[in-house]
Amino acid sequence: MMVRFRSWAWMICLGLGTSNLPGQIKPLDPTATLMKELTEAYGPTGSEEPVGIIVTKYLRPLVSEIKTDGLGSIIGTKKGNTDRPRIMLAAHMDEVGFIVKTITSEGYVFMNPVGGWRNQVLLAQRWVIMTRKGPVVGISGAKTPHVMSTEERDRMIAMKDVFMDVGARNREEATEVLGIQPGDPIAPDSPFQVMANGEYYMAKAWDDRAGLALMIEALKRLQREDHPNTIFAVATVQEEVGLRGAHTSAAVVEPDIGICLEAGVASDYPGTDPREAQEALGRGPGIFLLDSSMIPSRKLRDFVVEMARRNNIPVQYEVLTGYGEDGAEMQRYHGGRPTINVTVPTRYLHSHIGVLSRKDFDRSVDLLVALLRSLDQRTVEQIRSFGYIR
Ligand SMILES: [Zn+2]
Repeated sequence: MMVRFRSWAWMICLGLGTSNLPGQIKPLDPTATLMKELTEAYGPTGSEEPVGIIVTKYLRPLVSEIKTDGLGSIIGTKKGNTDRPRIMLAAHMDEVGFIVKTITSEGYVFMNPVGGWRNQVLLAQRWVIMTRKGPVVGISGAKTPHVMSTEERDRMIAMKDVFMDVGARNREEATEVLGIQPGDPIAPDSPFQVMANGEYYMAKAWDDRAGLALMIEALKRLQREDHPNTIFAVATVQEEVGLRGAHTSAAVVEPDIGICLEAGVASDYPGTDPREAQEALGRGPGIFLLDSSMIPSRKLRDFVVEMARRNNIPVQYEVLTGYGEDGAEMQRYHGGRPTINVTVPTRYLHSHIGVLSRKDFDRSVDLLVALLRSLDQRTVEQIRSFGYIR
């Protein structure tokens, strides 16, 4: 073992042990508790049930009706003092994951990606396979450097060569004892943690549990309030493979206007360039001006920006082509509906750990609440009209 590390003992003496970081001493408040529950739940695309259970638990007391579409998207209805406009909020429950493809005679599992992964973030990570017998933990094995040439160490592994070690000694143990079978979903395993500054939160699956938390927190604030519309809080499924749950749930909701709630793309770390993405942590909610799936209604965009200005909420803009979101399906519903994508800027999406700012999150809730209080029928009709037809 040539790779040596200094003892951790001195750090623990100094009070720097991982459980003693300043940001982690305080107990979590209800919002952070909701975030912890949502992000630690396993919900790879097509297997969103564990997330659905948490969403339902929190939504039920906040809405008058709760139902699902045919794919499993959850639709909570909160009636204000009028039926229209019908405002659809959409945040997706699924996270990028894998499914079991084959199991070798030695008991190793090969898998197929579901959603967009980079090879660099795959090795030496913890995962959970959701089997018919319950969760099975595993690690994506990484070849030890001691047996590699310099050239091999620098080489990128191909996605198809990544394997999972679940501790099975042969195929029979993997399939019969552990219950693993082809098609079983695989989710990243990674705990929620508050970082040392107390403001930044680390977790997997912020995309799009941040959007779900935002939707639930906004409804909590409106709990005892009348609002001039009916809100449909929709937790969609299968976003990461082509916005499928947003397509099916929009047909059930029949929205007049759509607000997609997403994890944005913070690019404020080394190696990034604002020409690729523009959001940064700590500068407020993001408003997407263009992505590969949608250009928002300009009138709705202007309305959102004006609401933010009136409420002293800073906003930042994003123009990004490698990104699609559920808003596109709401926008294309039934002849077209004005839609916008509002985000909580997040670093390191589609990996085991993303980072967002609690301040940005709270300001995103402020913005969403301001929008839900002010989107009445007249306003939505104005947003939906075009100047060239009078
Ligand atoms: Zn997303």
